[in-house]
Amino acid sequence: MSIPPNKPRGVVIAGNWKMNLTLSETQKFWSAFSGGLQGTSAQSIHLYAPAVNLAWLAANAGKQITVGAQNAHGETHGAFTGELSAPLLKDVGVHHALVGHSERRHVFGETLELVQSRTLGLLKQGMSVLLCVGETRSEREAQATSKVLESQLASAMTEAIRPFLGKLMIAYEPVWAIGTGLTATPAQAEEAHQIVRRFVWNAFGMEAAAHMSVLYGGSVTPENIAELLKGPNVDGALVGGASLKAENFIKLARHAR
Ligand code: PEP
Repeated sequence: MSIPPNKPRGVVIAGNWKMNLTLSETQKFWSAFSGGLQGTSAQSIHLYAPAVNLAWLAANAGKQITVGAQNAHGETHGAFTGELSAPLLKDVGVHHALVGHSERRHVFGETLELVQSRTLGLLKQGMSVLLCVGETRSEREAQATSKVLESQLASAMTEAIRPFLGKLMIAYEPVWAIGTGLTATPAQAEEAHQIVRRFVWNAFGMEAAAHMSVLYGGSVTPENIAELLKGPNVDGALVGGASLKAENFIKLARHAR
């Protein structure tokens, strides 16, 4: 599998704030961060913020960057305590969501089936989805990385999502690299991204594979991002810890184009 030499994809830099930053901290972040946006392609910068900050961010930052939820349900409404739906999010100007983050899968026990129903349900309702996949340390040590990635991808990316592929991005996030300071080497990241892109090629064809943005996540910092982005199949980064301080995220966001 070789991808076209001129990637039709830009670089996307996404921040995942997890359960951090109050509204007033978010407002301070934005006033420091927005001044540093010059020289970036701002729409290629995504921020996945805590639910309570989304309405403010969408109203104040949403014209300059993409604002997203950290998770959302595939149903439109109903008895799903604690969940957010596409209509609730769209009503406050949020059209993007992460799905299948490793903390949702491994800390909160979200199953392949639940990730599948969130992915399809959200796409059908016009949301854009950043689908996260990744292997644990023991799976990597057992040489099961490609098997794990392919099964997570096959489960979430059924034939039913074909009409919505333009609204899907994938993040490869090795679980052992998230929040640990143990970044994948550029070669490990590129190898896994090739597995992801090969899956998309086999399931949906070459065009879909060529256009699919695949981001790397796992202890990305302003210091290591440039090396990671050199991989021809690495189209950006999903960044947790290093996205929380405006000055760090500005340095990372300068790679967006
Ligand atoms: C993440 O939360 O998706 C993540 C990659 O976190 P960190 O950058 O802190 O490893």
